[in-house]
Amino acid sequence: MKKTNKLLNEQINHEFYSAYLYLSMAAYFHELGLKGFARWLEIQAKEEVEHAIKFYKHLVDKGEKVVLKSIKEPPKDWESPKEAFSQALEHEKKITRLIYDIGKVALKEEEYGTWEFLNWFYKEQIEEEDIVRDVLNSLNLIGEDKVGLYLLDKELGGREEG
Ligand code: MG
Repeated sequence: MKKTNKLLNEQINHEFYSAYLYLSMAAYFHELGLKGFARWLEIQAKEEVEHAIKFYKHLVDKGEKVVLKSIKEPPKDWESPKEAFSQALEHEKKITRLIYDIGKVALKEEEYGTWEFLNWFYKEQIEEEDIVRDVLNSLNLIGEDKVGLYLLDKELGGREEG
């Protein structure tokens, strides 16, 4: 199997792990009584599943073998909402790097169809990092203010699907 296709298969796993991570964070926010954060993360988790399916579909369309591996267990507790979102941002940066790496290999192996397919993800990753950074910035501004946290929770709860 070409390295490009091996990395595409691995990316299916990374995207499902992202969904697992955000769903686990959503459950943590439910424990804190912050339903808006939880809803925001549940929508995020669904989008990650859609990403995984896009990679899966791309391999199928290319007539390449799909190899699904087991998904790693995500963390289940965080010290604070801020810690959870810092981790989410670091995670998305890692995902961006992984997708860039696939692109690099795809060009080297002259897999131009995959390069073209990845273009949607290059743009998507900038958005993903941006929306997570927005929440993290808001949490930093709020600090220890409980009213601020309550209001941010209301705002995030208004996130629309898709
Ligand atoms: Mg993703």
